[in-house]
Amino acid sequence: MNDANKLIIVSNRLPMVLKETNGNWQLEAGTGGLVNALAPVLKERGGVWIGWPGGLEEAPIRKIFAQSEKRLGYNITPVSLSPREVDGYYYGFSNETVWPLFHSLLGRAVFNLDDWETYREVNGKFATAAAEAAGEDDFIWFQDYQLLLAGKYFKKLRPGITAGFFLHIPFPSPDIFYRLPWRGPVIRALLNYDLIGFQTRKDLRNFIHCVKSLIPHARVNYRSPYSVITWENRTVLTGAFPIGIDFKKYNDLAESREVEQAAWFLHEKFRGHKLLIGVDRLDYTKGIPSRFEAFALALEKYPELRENVSLLQVVVPSRMEVPKYQAMKRELDELVGRINGRFTTLGWIPIHYVFGTLTPVELVAHYRSCEIALITPLNDGMNLVAKEYCASCIDNRGILILSEFAGAAIQLKTGAILVNPYDVEQTADAIRRAFTMPAEEKIKRMQRLRHQVKKYNVYHWVGNFLNAAGAVEGSQD
Ligand code: UDP
Repeated sequence: MNDANKLIIVSNRLPMVLKETNGNWQLEAGTGGLVNALAPVLKERGGVWIGWPGGLEEAPIRKIFAQSEKRLGYNITPVSLSPREVDGYYYGFSNETVWPLFHSLLGRAVFNLDDWETYREVNGKFATAAAEAAGEDDFIWFQDYQLLLAGKYFKKLRPGITAGFFLHIPFPSPDIFYRLPWRGPVIRALLNYDLIGFQTRKDLRNFIHCVKSLIPHARVNYRSPYSVITWENRTVLTGAFPIGIDFKKYNDLAESREVEQAAWFLHEKFRGHKLLIGVDRLDYTKGIPSRFEAFALALEKYPELRENVSLLQVVVPSRMEVPKYQAMKRELDELVGRINGRFTTLGWIPIHYVFGTLTPVELVAHYRSCEIALITPLNDGMNLVAKEYCASCIDNRGILILSEFAGAAIQLKTGAILVNPYDVEQTADAIRRAFTMPAEEKIKRMQRLRHQVKKYNVYHWVGNFLNAAGAVEGSQD
């Protein structure tokens, strides 16, 4: 492996899963867009991925990873966390404080001093692992809201090494961010990174407003395409880098025989009904209850939709050990029961609700067989499902109904029907509009969407961020 100019990725979780069969542990490489986009760069430049392997104290982690490195083409450094650290850093501060606050759902946010302290400690632990792995010319790229503070600890250990950070979730307005008891330490810690990337210009603007009001002597200059913050002899490049997907992977899978067969099977099963699809992780930011209410209102208000459309909602289990998430599942179960109880007729069920994980073939077959995607998060950093749906619509016939509060709405507004997910009536009307949209308009809209998703794919995103990393040196001169 070439040791000069390595790329070191640091994320909460490693991009692979460990599986045990009959006492033998095996490593399965992750398949998400981020891994697909970064793995080739890591292989080419030489690289390391640092992260938590999950709660697997019983597995001989280091040995298994060492065996797999040759096959993967890059190194892996697992960061082990104790149950106390997982509780305070992951379940606590990351998911009960930062996640709701940054999604502007203030009422859900919990502020707990012990969690904050554990979060600081664990960020220090990730930073130390990165500092140990880093060579003088390497670029360290920290990922997401679990590692807001890691740059500060990293720079204490290795001040001369360039470190970047990308936030995959939204950054809230100052009004919301100010509620955080540790707002000053978080903003100051972030300014230790040399490069900070956000999903949208709105997130970037929110961040800059927070910097200006919390650190009055920080200066901000706009040097296209970046906003450059100068503070205490440090220069921080910031910019919007909307993440994309591996368009070709979804497009090619949608064209495959396996997907065609699976899609045909779905079509036969729901013969005669138009299908709306929703695919979401179980999370309150996804707006699933309001979506169900909007669908029910559409059936109420437009009786011609009854027996002609069904909503196929896939909810992927997430954080199921957390009681609040269990309660959310119960709420969804009840709501589906109530709506189906109200409208079901012989031979037609309004909502088909799957609580589980689909294989990639099943997922793309669902995207292909559903004429309308109903994606209505209350707030979302990007929403990759929206982009995956477009990439899978190989015949250009799908319609995307998308929340204006998904980061993806900025790029997809020219082809999607945008809705305010809090406005149940507007969403219900959008369902009717999609149901009656002429084929010609559908095709034109989907062509525009596919063009966007194809052009601004995940490789474009990685390239742009790494170019910005290259610009960091220039900005510091
Ligand atoms: N997904 C999955 N299995 C499924 C359904 C969905 O892995 O059964 C994936 C989906 O393809 C997408 C991701 O989960 O890439 C969800 O990403 P998104 O940005 O929409 O939301 P997030 O869950 O990251 O908030």
